[in-house]
Amino acid sequence: MKSNVFILIFSIISVYSLAQKNQTLAHIEPPNWWAGMEHHEVEIMLHGKNISNLTIDAKGLTILGVQKTENPNYLFVTVETKNIAAGTYTFHLLENKKVKYQVDYEIKTRAENSKERMGFNNSDVLYLLMPDRFANGKISNDNDPTVVEKMNRSLPGGRHGGDIQGIVDHLDYIKDLGATTIWPTPLLEDNDSAYSYHTYGQSDLYRVDPRYGTNEEYKNFVTEAHKESLKVIQDVVPNHWGSRHWMMNDLPTYTWIHQFPGYAQSNYRMSTQMDPNVSAIDQKMCVDGWFVRSMPDLNQSNPLVLNYLVQNTIWWMEYANLDGLRVDTYSYNDKEGIAKWTKKIMEEYPNTNIVGEVWMHDQAHQSYWQKNSPIAAIQSYNSHLPSVMDFTLLDALNQAFNEKNQNWDQGMVRVYENFVNDFLYDNPNNILLFLENHDTQRFNEIYANIADYKLAMTILATVRGIPQIYYGTEIGMKGNKNLGDADIRHDFPGGWKEDKDNAFVSKDSKNENSQSGRNQTQDEYFNFTKKILNWRLNSKAVQEGKTIQFLPENNLYVFFRILPTEKVMVIVNNSNDQQILTLNRFREVISTGKMCKDIITGNNINLANEKLIIGAKTSMIIEIK
Ligand code: CA
Repeated sequence: MKSNVFILIFSIISVYSLAQKNQTLAHIEPPNWWAGMEHHEVEIMLHGKNISNLTIDAKGLTILGVQKTENPNYLFVTVETKNIAAGTYTFHLLENKKVKYQVDYEIKTRAENSKERMGFNNSDVLYLLMPDRFANGKISNDNDPTVVEKMNRSLPGGRHGGDIQGIVDHLDYIKDLGATTIWPTPLLEDNDSAYSYHTYGQSDLYRVDPRYGTNEEYKNFVTEAHKESLKVIQDVVPNHWGSRHWMMNDLPTYTWIHQFPGYAQSNYRMSTQMDPNVSAIDQKMCVDGWFVRSMPDLNQSNPLVLNYLVQNTIWWMEYANLDGLRVDTYSYNDKEGIAKWTKKIMEEYPNTNIVGEVWMHDQAHQSYWQKNSPIAAIQSYNSHLPSVMDFTLLDALNQAFNEKNQNWDQGMVRVYENFVNDFLYDNPNNILLFLENHDTQRFNEIYANIADYKLAMTILATVRGIPQIYYGTEIGMKGNKNLGDADIRHDFPGGWKEDKDNAFVSKDSKNENSQSGRNQTQDEYFNFTKKILNWRLNSKAVQEGKTIQFLPENNLYVFFRILPTEKVMVIVNNSNDQQILTLNRFREVISTGKMCKDIITGNNINLANEKLIIGAKTSMIIEIK
């Protein structure tokens, strides 16, 4: 009898210890959900040794379905979260009706007005930065035992130690410049052994890279930015992840990634996505091929993968209270899959904005990827993506200023022609504009002359769409892509305590670390950029106005941005000669001759005069009120 009691107690203890919360369940994703979401049928992925042999129940939660794959280590459990109260629910995984694992799952209360969050729009200016290269706000996270690559600032492609705290420390700088929205390149864990600093090969989609900070720090960064009236968008990578993603060691299903088997490289020909004459093999190799060997290509035509990616993005939007999204390599994705992904995110957050990277060299191709595109409609396709990037404007700006004399199709005509093609877009006002980004040649490597920069920045800040600055643009930072990507991703001077120069502060300011501030040239770049971006914040005409452009003559380009109550006249003289502009040509827009102001020089301008003199390589932004 005594021994029987002993056995009984022993077995109770054994069952109890086996049933401890989350024990040996390696992963539960998403780690929680929220009550009252549009996406209320949540597919929870449970990962643990041989768990597909177990049955599952959950008190208070309706299980809508349990999906198994050929890998016994996964269960995809769909639960209904509509009309349920926030709280902790418990899953029981049972073997022969006995609880083997007990898993608590939290349904949280949604933040107020979460659904209504406004994305970014043409009243905003984006500031794109690479967190590893912007500022090192915390040296304690420079190295982390849970990730492979350690800090080595002497390696151009190494980890340099920049982090989330570094961004938080310089919110005032970004705001002072006149930017309103921060776009950090991806912040989630990238555990590659080298070149992990760009963080596009992610290894855990639910964890901020520890060298940048914690999930909590990410969330706090967004809170701090919001206090400064700055928005934050997340850089999302649904096309691929890193080869060191934990799931690569135990794929849920063979078709989770594109297999050939194993590796085949993308042909990078995104035009195969809309070419009516395309061969099947070329189209397949664009979409299914891997971006590079270290980035396995995700298969969004598999509903499990697609749902995983949808939920992951909604989870971060909700968790970190993000304002919007930028999508990496948008046009490399399975095009039906990525359209479903985009539609789901927009259904959850109808007022947000998502800009996709569509690196094309033709406006029809760019338009194809924008929501309700008249071009894509020809093929009955709709991406549901609100915003695309103006790579053709970048192409024009990369050439126009080196063409001193205007031939038929050169110089300012390139820029003019870019906007002629606005008829191809459903919404030309929701297009991202840029002189450079983390993948392109630095503008100031192409044009060493600050005069060219001022012309380009004048255009960027005043044409339709949403301007984007790339960290360092505003101080004339150089870099040559032909020397490798690291050369266009230099550390921002002053972001590290040991930096001799600190470009975060003006040349006149004194600071404790005896660093010098911006030099004279950097200050000139910064002050010009700051002046027109800050002016732009209050110019409704530039943000929302109709565009009327005039054919460039002698490499001089004139356009207007027009609202019923205010107008802006922009003049860009890209020639090496002073020019005399005959104002009668513009009388359809400027009928009267009120005193107006050039916001660049502050000079008064009388547009009632017959002529206006404009200097060589000079731009004017004239406010007509
Ligand atoms: Ca750091």
